[in-house]
Amino acid sequence: MTPVKAEILAVGDELLYGQTLDTNSHFISGELDKIGVRVVRRTTVGDNEADILQAFAEAESRSDILLISGGLGPTSDDLTKPCLAKHFGCGIRIHEEALKEVTEFFRKRGRELTELNRQQAALPECCEKITNPLGTAPGMWFDRNGKIFVSMPGVPHEMVHMMQTEVIPRIRQRFRLPIIAHQMVRTAGIGESFLAEKIAPWEQSLPPHIRLAYLPSEAGVKLRLTTFGEDAGKIEKDFAALRESILPLAGQYIFGFTDDPLEVVLGKLLLEKGLTLSAAESCTGGHVSHTITTVPGSSAYFLGSVVAYANEVKINALGVNPETLAQYGAVSEQTVAEMASGVRQRFGTDIGIATSGIAGPGGGTPDKPVGTIWIACADRNGVETRKLQFANARLVNIKLTTTAVLNLVRLRIKQ
Ligand code: AMP
Ligand code: MG
Repeated sequence: MTPVKAEILAVGDELLYGQTLDTNSHFISGELDKIGVRVVRRTTVGDNEADILQAFAEAESRSDILLISGGLGPTSDDLTKPCLAKHFGCGIRIHEEALKEVTEFFRKRGRELTELNRQQAALPECCEKITNPLGTAPGMWFDRNGKIFVSMPGVPHEMVHMMQTEVIPRIRQRFRLPIIAHQMVRTAGIGESFLAEKIAPWEQSLPPHIRLAYLPSEAGVKLRLTTFGEDAGKIEKDFAALRESILPLAGQYIFGFTDDPLEVVLGKLLLEKGLTLSAAESCTGGHVSHTITTVPGSSAYFLGSVVAYANEVKINALGVNPETLAQYGAVSEQTVAEMASGVRQRFGTDIGIATSGIAGPGGGTPDKPVGTIWIACADRNGVETRKLQFANARLVNIKLTTTAVLNLVRLRIKQ
C-alpha cells in the first residue's frame, strides 16, 4: 500500500516575524499521523501572493494532500482565498449557504453584518464549503486530479474544530489509509549516547519496517518506534516482542511504554503502594512540587513542600543542623539528606525528597562548579543521596533535577 503523503502550509506574516508560534501545523501533523497519513513537509509563508502560489504548486507536485491554515480573515492582508481561486483557475462568488451561516453568526451576537464580513461568504466556485460554526471564515475543500487542498482558518480553536469534525472524516473517506503505529519507550537517568550503547543489540534486531527515533529532553530520553501496516494485531505482536527484549538491556532506566510522563507513572506507583510524599526544594524552587501536582489526583499522595532557599529556612522550617550547613555548605550531601529527612518527619509522610544545588549561570566555585546538584530521598529505611553534575543553563538544570529526583523515588519504591 503506497502511503498517502500530506503537506502542511501555514500562512501569515506573524509566523515569520516570530510573533506567533505555529501551533496549527503541530496540531495538524498529530491528527494526520493518527489516521495514517504521512506528513512529508511543513512550510510557512508570509501574506504574499507569489510565495503562496509557489507553495501551492510545489505541494501539488509532490504530495496527495495540502492542508493550509491562515490567511482567511476578511481584511486585505489575507490572501489565501484569492490565491486558491487563481491556482485552481476559477472565479469567486457569494456562496448562498455560507452567507446564511455568516449572517446567522452575526445575528446571534446582536451585531450587524458589514460588507467585509459578507465577503467572507464569497468562495472560489471550484471548492466545497466546509462549515465553520466557531467563526466567520468557512473552510474550503478542493479535489482536482487526485489531489486534495484544504484551507482552514488560522484561529487555532476554529481550525482544531474544523479538523476534528470535518477534515479528518473527509480524508478518511477519500483515501485508503494504513495504520501508523508508535511504540514509546520512556527512560530516565541515562543520557542518549549511553542508552544507545546499551541497547545496540536490540536496535540491530529491529526489523526494517520498524523505525527508531531517539527523542531526548529534560524529562528523559524517549525512544519511539514507528511502523506502518494494515494488520493491527501483527503490529502489536511485533511491539510486544520488542518491549520484552529491551528490558534485559535497559530495564532499570525504563519507566514506561506509554507517553505518560514520569510524574504520572510515579503517581500511580505511590497510589498503588499507598505511600505519601513531601518535598524540600532549594535549587528547584518549587518545580518538583509543581511537576508532581500537574497530575490530577496528586492530592491523594502528595502532602506538600517547603521551598527552602535560604539557610535560615533550611534550619527553621526543616530542622537542618546549622553545624551541617557551616561545615559542608548548603550544596552538600549532608545538607540535602537532612532536608529530605526533615520534611519527611515534619510532614509525616512515608517519603521525603530534597534538592540543593547551584542552578547557575553564576555562583559556582572550583570544588562546586555550576550545575553541581545534590538530591535525596528519605524513607523508613534511611536516606539515599545522589550527586548530579549538569552544565550552566539554569532552567534546564531545574528540569533535569526534577526528573532525577522523581526517578530516584521511583527506583527506591521499586527496590
Ligand atoms: P488568519 O486566518 O490569517 O486571519 O489568522 C487569524 C489568527 O490566527 C492570527 O492572527 C494568528 O493569531 C492565528 N494564527 C494564524 N496562523 C496560525 C498558526 N499557524 N498557528 C497558530 N496561530 C495562528
Ligand atoms: Mg493572517
